[in-house]
Amino acid sequence: MTLTDYPTFSESPFFFDRRAASVPQQEEGVVRSHSNPRVAYYHPKEVGNYHYGERHPMRPHRMELTNQLVLGYKLHEKMSMHSPRKATEQELLEFHDNDYVDFLKRVTPKNAQNLTRDWTKFNVGDDCPIFHDLFSFCQQYSGATLAAARKLSSGNADIAINWSGGLHHAKKGEASGFCYVNDIVLGILELLRYHPRVLYIDIDIHHGDGVQEAFYLSNRVLTVSFHKYSADFFPGTGNLSEIGSDLGKYFSLNVPLQDGIDDESYISLFKAVMEPTITTFRPSAIVLQCGADSLGCDRLGTFNLSIAAHGECVRFIKSFDLPLLVLGGGGYRQSSVARCWAYETGVLAGMNLSNELPQNNYYEFFAPDYQLHPPLTGKIQNLNTRQSLERIRITIREKLRYLNGAPSVQMQEIPPDLMGFLNNEEQNQDEKLDDDSSLPDTRRESKLKDGDLLDRENSSSGDGLSNGPLGGARRRTIRV
Ligand SMILES: [Zn+2]
Repeated sequence: MTLTDYPTFSESPFFFDRRAASVPQQEEGVVRSHSNPRVAYYHPKEVGNYHYGERHPMRPHRMELTNQLVLGYKLHEKMSMHSPRKATEQELLEFHDNDYVDFLKRVTPKNAQNLTRDWTKFNVGDDCPIFHDLFSFCQQYSGATLAAARKLSSGNADIAINWSGGLHHAKKGEASGFCYVNDIVLGILELLRYHPRVLYIDIDIHHGDGVQEAFYLSNRVLTVSFHKYSADFFPGTGNLSEIGSDLGKYFSLNVPLQDGIDDESYISLFKAVMEPTITTFRPSAIVLQCGADSLGCDRLGTFNLSIAAHGECVRFIKSFDLPLLVLGGGGYRQSSVARCWAYETGVLAGMNLSNELPQNNYYEFFAPDYQLHPPLTGKIQNLNTRQSLERIRITIREKLRYLNGAPSVQMQEIPPDLMGFLNNEEQNQDEKLDDDSSLPDTRRESKLKDGDLLDRENSSSGDGLSNGPLGGARRRTIRV
């Protein structure tokens, strides 16, 4: 591969020019944006009712708080609202092993004691407990991500949101880090049916290891993870040196950070990394995991980010006007998670939200300030030095030069399963909430109908996918 100068990097503002650094604002200052994006919001009705256990930090109930704020701010009037069906077992098997899915399906708190041999094999136990209706929980959040991905691929939405998804640690054959089914990998696979290249961005405080691992050998999915990296911090991976391998070499990027990073440093680095990544890789769709444990005051996280800064990352990615799948992830202070994701829903829907939280069923959770942007910063010493951040920026710039332009993908025929997409979309009408206040879902011609996807990236530059549009991709890239 030839080294060439990255063509637009010099146009990026110098990372440490503090005067030029963006300061998080609530709604203004978008460089480019979907002029009037059609936003689809997915909320599985019962996903907030599950319990990992009394002492477990993961609380699915945060989804209920989030949804209450979304409705309280009347954001449902700006989006189409969907209560998607559960993912089928077959859909989970698109990524996960048969015996693992079978285990998830069969295991209950009652019979778990008889399956102790499987506990080790499938890594369930303390972090990933067996709780009541676990499989149904997995099916719900995964079904929502799949429905959101299908919505984007059908061309019926510009942005699709599923805050219950984003469980980035789950592996092909085992649970990990509170995650059982990796809905992100499933969603990306769904997008790959249409899209030659998908960019995955992860701003959870933990390394997006499950997604990186799934696509480590692929040049059709570029993964970028911003996270805390240290030997004693879960999951212990995500060093700068992890770049992908085989065809996927240089298609994994990692931004390892230390405790206490502040708004300005994070946003500057985020933009300095993402702008050239997007311009170089030229994705046709983006998946953004918005884990909220990177916020200050999180129970597990140790960054100092404000909600406005976290949301600024979302706003920046939105500004590239590409089909965007937005997912949740970690986040262990329920009230902060709900505030953050409600705010980011507002960013995506293009709606200014009052700092005064609306009345809602869980109003007491937001005491004592009842505000959208309470102070969340300044609790942890910032161990990221200017030099360490600059080193990361330069190293990633070097890696991007190796990409040497975006790879092309041969798509010579329509994968058979694509033909059902439009039908699925029609069927999904019954998934819509009985909420007449949602905006009409203006439909447009499916991209499939004119077939423009079939040859728009036709090239023989060699991406290793000569066996077929997706079949080759799956066989070659999904290895964990
Ligand atoms: Zn996390």
